[in-house]
Amino acid sequence: TRRWHLAARPEGEPTRDDFDLRETTVEDPGPGEVLVKTLYLSVDPYMRGRMRDAESYAEPWDVGDPMRAGVVAEVVESNYDGLEAGDVVNGELYWSEYAVVPGHTLRQVDADLAPVSTALGVLGMPGATAYFGLTDVGEPTPGDTVVVSGAAGAVGSVVGQIARIGGCEVVGIAGSDEKTAWLTEDLGFDHAINYQTENVGKRLREAVDGVDVYFDNVGGPITDAVFRQLNVRARVVVCGQISQYNATEVPMGPRKLAGLITTRARVEGVLVRDYPDWTEAFERIGGWIAADELHYRESVVEGFENAPDAFLGLFEGENIGKQVVKVD
Ligand code: NDP
Repeated sequence: TRRWHLAARPEGEPTRDDFDLRETTVEDPGPGEVLVKTLYLSVDPYMRGRMRDAESYAEPWDVGDPMRAGVVAEVVESNYDGLEAGDVVNGELYWSEYAVVPGHTLRQVDADLAPVSTALGVLGMPGATAYFGLTDVGEPTPGDTVVVSGAAGAVGSVVGQIARIGGCEVVGIAGSDEKTAWLTEDLGFDHAINYQTENVGKRLREAVDGVDVYFDNVGGPITDAVFRQLNVRARVVVCGQISQYNATEVPMGPRKLAGLITTRARVEGVLVRDYPDWTEAFERIGGWIAADELHYRESVVEGFENAPDAFLGLFEGENIGKQVVKVD
């Protein structure tokens, strides 16, 4: 089988040369193990942290290690009770065409419920992050103003819609007119700001009367601008800082932290793996999808050999909604 490995630790922006496609032999599955064939693999911003030799919330990879990732796969051969050939499963596997894994590490995906690729997005890790990050850490109440950055991405697009369903006024910040149009016209955001062409601070001040919840996926200058408009007792959910993931120097933090004294705002990180059971998130989100209250989109890159390009595209904002790779 073919499998992608980390070829080098990127300096700044990763490039294709940091990835190496290798041929590996897959053994027959042993007791309790399952042979799976990858259908879709995930590319996620946090993988950038694992490519770095530094402390991060996900264990760093060594150069030469296989690229691990969320995968949706079909069972080819099973020695595990509860899974049989033809079942579709989701697990933390590799950028690999085939793999042998312990059956208990896989969760079965119901192909009748939704397209199976959604197990990597709206009904997977990003959806759970949006749900728990917003409801548990952001604690929005009806009438609150909720601002989300990275708003047209896998996590952000779900955050904004859950806030809207919860009766909040929602502002999304994203990097193109196509994305902002999707947010307001299809997803029901009240306002959307294109940070590439507009002054975020100015537009935000015009659009709303301060910010009660800020769900931050990006950090950097966008976050600096939003911090200046927090309301009293605002909650900032620090979910991601993608604008800093390729930085070669530690950036200066948000200015005007003295504003937190006036507002007594709370800034708190969220880590989705702190929530061991994602059932509640998937039931709620699945219900909203079925009721046509929550929409999602996927950007699909075709071809196993293009996985690195799909990953690199996250840092260029090439995806709308969840970026996946379809393996044929
Ligand atoms: P997205 O689908 O949002 O893809 C990344 C997006 O980030 C791009 O589409 C791009 O959109 C935007 N972006 C890239 N570079 C910049 C930049 N310099 N400034 C502003 N925006 C930028 O990814 P996910 O939804 O999977 O992840 C979103 C965030 O959530 C990430 O930071 C990720 O690390 C984090 N995360 C955290 C988890 C946790 O447990 N804490 C779990 C899952 C994700 P645009 O065109 O708008 O720039």
